[in-house]
Amino acid sequence: MELNKNSFEKIIENLHDGLYLVDRNRIITYWNKAAEGISGFSAEEVVGKPCSDSLLTHIDSDGCNLCQGTCPLAETIADGRSREDEVFLHHKDGHRVPVSVRVSPLTDENGEIVGGIELFTDISNQTVNELRIKELEKLALLDGLTQLANRTYIEREIESRFEEMKRLNVPFGILFMDIDHFKKFNDLYGHDVGDNVLKFVANTFVSNTRPFDLYGRWGGEEFIGIIRCINSEDLERLGNRLRSLIEKSYIIHKEEKLSVTISMGATLVNEDDSIESLTKRADILLYQSKEAGRNRLTLG
Ligand code: GH3
Ligand code: MG
Ligand code: MG
Repeated sequence: MELNKNSFEKIIENLHDGLYLVDRNRIITYWNKAAEGISGFSAEEVVGKPCSDSLLTHIDSDGCNLCQGTCPLAETIADGRSREDEVFLHHKDGHRVPVSVRVSPLTDENGEIVGGIELFTDISNQTVNELRIKELEKLALLDGLTQLANRTYIEREIESRFEEMKRLNVPFGILFMDIDHFKKFNDLYGHDVGDNVLKFVANTFVSNTRPFDLYGRWGGEEFIGIIRCINSEDLERLGNRLRSLIEKSYIIHKEEKLSVTISMGATLVNEDDSIESLTKRADILLYQSKEAGRNRLTLG
């Protein structure tokens, strides 16, 4: 298969790497789309100008201006050898962009050097990736679907609440919640619609949270609320208010209003509780709510 000139131009124009051509005097003669994206300068702004003309002003990692000194392109045009380097180019908006550059000479049919070609890749992604890892560490405590605290986060939070109770005598309670007949719901309407339900249930918690309480996704269609500074009467009232809010929430799917109910187990912490004993007790209470007909709260 042979490519014609048009195809080559298209390929070059759509490369992910910035690419530009200069003549022997380092006047820019071609500037592709990626070069525009990486540098912020359009072809119109740079073609016809010398590349050292306070445009890109490449600097090395020591901050030395390469355009006035040992410009890799100038060297390549002089000795005909290809070069690679990592430099920082000047972005039109002012900041420096780390790029890896590869320069090669351009020759005519007689082998005479008529200019140079520079291909440059934005390597600032590496820094972005480091930031992303930090972001992911943060996300490791969040549930991706609902953006609520995940199980690890909930366990840590309960540990902190135990500490607070021991040191400062601050009581707390938990609400253990599970969506009723959710398997049937998924079977009827599909998993994606089910996911949307999980999101609105989570949003109902978040929108009705007191600033010092925390709601998280324990797993699947199970949630936990950690409710601080509360007595059993108020815990029951708060839980029932959430239960009723969820019962009255809905999404519209194919012109049908869809809603779910939740069952709850609610309990206050005891002095000799551990995470396990506390969540186990709440789970048993939740089970009693299921047995008693669902869409209800059992306090214990
Ligand atoms: P019960 O009233 O006794 O709680 O019945 P149930 O059907 O809700 O309980 P079961 O534990 O049998 O099923 C839980 C269902 O929750 C099964 C699973 O399809 C669904 N589920 C769990 N996680 C997700 C999820 O992330 N997205 C969706 N859409 N469904 C989920
Ligand atoms: Mg369940
Ligand atoms: Mg369920």
